[in-house]
Amino acid sequence: MSAFHADIGFELGMSVIVHESPMSIDPGQLVGWYENAQRDLPWRRPGVSAWQILVSEFMLQQTPVSRVEPIWLAWIERWPTPSATAAAGSAEVLRAWGKLGYPRRAKRLHECAVVIAGEYGDEVPTDVETLLTLPGVGAYTARAVACFAYSASVPVVDTNVRRVVTRVLHGQADAPPRARDLDDVAALLPADESAPIFSAALMELGATVCTARAPQCGTCPLSRCRWRTAGYPAAAITKRVQRYAGTDRQVRGKLLDVLRDSSSPVTRAQLDVVWLTDTAQRDRALDSLLVDGLVEQTVDGLFALAGEGD
Ligand code: SF4
Repeated sequence: MSAFHADIGFELGMSVIVHESPMSIDPGQLVGWYENAQRDLPWRRPGVSAWQILVSEFMLQQTPVSRVEPIWLAWIERWPTPSATAAAGSAEVLRAWGKLGYPRRAKRLHECAVVIAGEYGDEVPTDVETLLTLPGVGAYTARAVACFAYSASVPVVDTNVRRVVTRVLHGQADAPPRARDLDDVAALLPADESAPIFSAALMELGATVCTARAPQCGTCPLSRCRWRTAGYPAAAITKRVQRYAGTDRQVRGKLLDVLRDSSSPVTRAQLDVVWLTDTAQRDRALDSLLVDGLVEQTVDGLFALAGEGD
C-alpha cells in the first residue's frame, strides 16, 4: 500500500469502499515536540560552524552520542577549522580519535579537512553535490551537513529516521535501507523554512522515543502511526546484535592502542603480545591496518601510526 493508509472504510451492500488518505507526519506535532524535548547537544548550539557540524557527523556514524560528546568537544577546541585539522599530522588525528572506533573515519576526516582547506578556502561547501565529492562524505553526511549547517531543505535519512518512517508510513517494525527512503522523507518535509528543524526532529524522535527495542508510544507526539494502529506486527527479519569481543575490530583496536600510546615506532613483538588468542587473526588485523593506511612500516621493519613511519 506504499505510503498510503486506509483510514476510513465502510460497507455499502456487499462491497467495501475504502478511502485512502496520504499518511503523513504533522509538522506541527513533531516540531512542537522537538522544541521542548530536544537534547542539548553541543553541536546544536549557536555559533557551531559547518565544519564542526561535519566533524560531529563523522563521529556519530555508528557511535553513540555519549561517547562522541567528550571527544568532539576536545577536538573542536584543538582544531576548530579545516585548516587546523589539516595542519595536524594524521597520527595526531588518529590519537585524538581515541576509542571512538572505526578509525578509518579519522583518516578520512583528516583527508576531508585537507581538501576543504586547500580547495574551498577553509569553508565547508554548501550544496549536497559538492559535499559528496569530499573524502569520507557519503549520502547521509552530505545531506546532514547541508541541512543542519546550512538549513537546506533536503531529506536526511539515517537509521533512526528510517525506522520512524517505516513504522509511521508503512506499518512495519523496521526495514533495511531501501531506494524509496529518500523519496519517503522528501515527501514528508514541510514546504516552508521549517524543513530543517523537521528533519532534526524526525531524527531526534527515532533516537529518543521511537527506539528500535522500546518505542515509547505513550509519549510519542505523533497522533497517527500505521505500525501502532496495526498492533505492532513483528519485524520480518530479526537483526543480529553485532558483537565486538573477539572480532577483528577488537584486535585492530588493541593494535592501534599500542601505537597511539607510543611516541616512536614499535617492534612487531610489542604488537604481537596484545592478542595471543589467535595469531592468524592478529596478523590479519595488522595487515588490514596497513592496507587501510592507518599503520605504516618503517624501513627498519618497525610499525608506526600513519604519518610517523618516516
Ligand atoms: S507511535 Fe510508537 S511506533 Fe509510532 S512513531 Fe510514535 S513511538 Fe514510533
